[in-house]
Amino acid sequence: MLSSLVELAELAALRTSPQRAVELLGLIPASALEAMRRARLRRTLRVAAESSTFYRDQFRKRGIDVRRIEHPSQLGDFYTTGEDLRSYGPDAFRVRPADTAFETTGTTSPVPKRVFFTRREIADMGRLSAIWLHVLGLRPADRVLSAFDCSFWVSPYVLRAGLDMLGCFHVEAGKIDPGEFYDRAKPYHATVIFGEPSWMIRFSEIARTKGTWPLKFLFAGGENISESARREVEEVWGAPLYLNYGQTESFGALGAECRLKNGYHRNDLYFFFEVKDPDAEGYGEAVYTTLSERAMPLIRYRSSDLTTLDDSPCGCGISMGRIAKIRSRCDEMVVCGMGNVGPWVFDEVLRGVSGIGDDWQVVIQHAGSRDRVELHVEAEDPLRQATIEHSIHANLRDRFADFWRNRDLQLYELRILFHRVGSLRGDARKLRRLIDERNMRQAVSV
Ligand SMILES: [Zn+2]
Repeated sequence: MLSSLVELAELAALRTSPQRAVELLGLIPASALEAMRRARLRRTLRVAAESSTFYRDQFRKRGIDVRRIEHPSQLGDFYTTGEDLRSYGPDAFRVRPADTAFETTGTTSPVPKRVFFTRREIADMGRLSAIWLHVLGLRPADRVLSAFDCSFWVSPYVLRAGLDMLGCFHVEAGKIDPGEFYDRAKPYHATVIFGEPSWMIRFSEIARTKGTWPLKFLFAGGENISESARREVEEVWGAPLYLNYGQTESFGALGAECRLKNGYHRNDLYFFFEVKDPDAEGYGEAVYTTLSERAMPLIRYRSSDLTTLDDSPCGCGISMGRIAKIRSRCDEMVVCGMGNVGPWVFDEVLRGVSGIGDDWQVVIQHAGSRDRVELHVEAEDPLRQATIEHSIHANLRDRFADFWRNRDLQLYELRILFHRVGSLRGDARKLRRLIDERNMRQAVSV
């Protein structure tokens, strides 16, 4: 009863203006929201068990009676993986007719995952996006230009649905060369720009040379960005760069940053989040269960992203808990003599080191019985190599005592190699950050 009243309040909030929606949603007490989430979880489980061949077979095989499940953790070691989506295909997950689909490729397989949706889901997610963009300051008078990739990718469609609700001017450029975008975007006097982080970095480099115009903010999604790269983009424009966290499988935003940019406020209305196998710090793989009515519900879907859930209050005043900044993809973690390392470790080791470019690459090799960790960096001035090396060692010692100790113990050898600025990436859109050459494992990218 309580949860259906909250559903009505939520529905009313989402149908009104973004400004009013923020106020109304803030009035729903946490306990009532939780009751609604539990009721939605039961609905997702029931519908999946009845109508999805994948879930029906899995639950039967494992002897799971979904009528007894109150929390996803009661499903034990049952999870849904990207590989399940690939191997069983979308029809095994579908519980109602779909009228659109999107695709995503991961870092472990060239075979895309196909995910089916309904237009109603696009509209619902668009409403939430509109509310969030309003919180970040987007208003009907703003002029939006987007360079999101429109090929099989969900983000431009969710953005479009959100902007339709906000009613602001919008031009979709598609993901074109940042130089061409710069020339063609300028006459529209865009106040807000959307794109992928690596594209945003190149676009901002061009703007640094050719000149900027006043922007309210930039908004990026689709991949991670280092804090140093974010700062550079923000310095160029004198405007904040906000990040969104989502996956095509989740259909848009699992969470998004507020103006404090300290983690992603979770979309707890539409998802039930868990962290699988957390370490001592609470970091593990983010897992989510869909709570909204979907063509393809997902139960305990493994995101492959290493993060933690943060329920401490945020200074922005928004009560929704957060997903911490993603440390890395779980499939990018490498176990070597240095320890369990992912790209975020080296981002952190290089943070604040002056005289180096933003790109770097790590190659892990066998060196006799030990591992050799080669850290390739780009230096502007070859004469400063000794100073740079010294700073990297100091950061490693101060920020990762365990990894430093393993070096003292000669569990691995750390080599720092210097390259010309711009030479590591070449023409590649995504730079391969971590390459494990010891077992000829497939290289992974950030
Ligand atoms: Zn916040």
